[in-house]
Amino acid sequence: MRYPADMHVHSTFSCDATYTIEEHVKDAISNGYRAVCFTEHVDYHPLDEGRGFYNYDAVSQEIHQLKEIYGHQILILKGIEFGEPHQYPREFEAYTKRDYDYILASVHWMGDYFVLDKRLIQEFTPEAIFEKYYRELEAMVRFGGFDAVAHMDYLRRGTGLDLYSEEQLKAIFSLMVKNDIALEINSQNLRRGIEHSFPSPDKVSLYAQAGGKKVVLGSDGHHAGNLGSGIEQALDACKHIQGLTYGIFMGRKFTAL
Ligand SMILES: [Zn+2]
Ligand SMILES: [Zn+2]
Repeated sequence: MRYPADMHVHSTFSCDATYTIEEHVKDAISNGYRAVCFTEHVDYHPLDEGRGFYNYDAVSQEIHQLKEIYGHQILILKGIEFGEPHQYPREFEAYTKRDYDYILASVHWMGDYFVLDKRLIQEFTPEAIFEKYYRELEAMVRFGGFDAVAHMDYLRRGTGLDLYSEEQLKAIFSLMVKNDIALEINSQNLRRGIEHSFPSPDKVSLYAQAGGKKVVLGSDGHHAGNLGSGIEQALDACKHIQGLTYGIFMGRKFTAL
């Protein structure tokens, strides 16, 4: 099985990325990819370093121009990664009216703590941290209105821990099925030498058990050489899980690859 797409890529239109859209597109073409989706950060949390950075007109113009040059070789998709849409419903709604192919939603903030904040582990018990995280995630999928949940398990990157109740996760996955939200398998960790994706295959299994079918993969690449990294490995680790369809979003519609 191969997944010739990368549905989670950041370019210099995201505040924390250093590689341009064109550079990623060239890499994707030379690696035989069929599609690449630019999911630039849109974060409204007042403490987020990227707040206000996103420029819809500039990114749209760039993608439009690059489609004219490379469109016969690869599908270039326009997306966003929106942080905590349930916390910013009015702002989020305005984005849903734009011409995106794909809207990813992420939990980056739990109150005033960034998910990777080192203070978390000093100030709270691991149980309390994970409770905060899953509560935020549940509120986000209950709110819905987006296409997929990005990098579920992200909290593991900051804490090195993994605490969850199967019951709570199943409730979250059931809500995703009900609200027609796909699951992203994010391979960023695999290029850091950590053996599990976000989420890990055991959680992907729970998603399938809850009736979840739609899966999208992305590297969360921000820099040179990141495009597509870890995707094959992430896919391989999930190949035993039955009932999943791997695909991409185009015009906000899921298409199997
Ligand atoms: Zn993210
Ligand atoms: Zn991202």
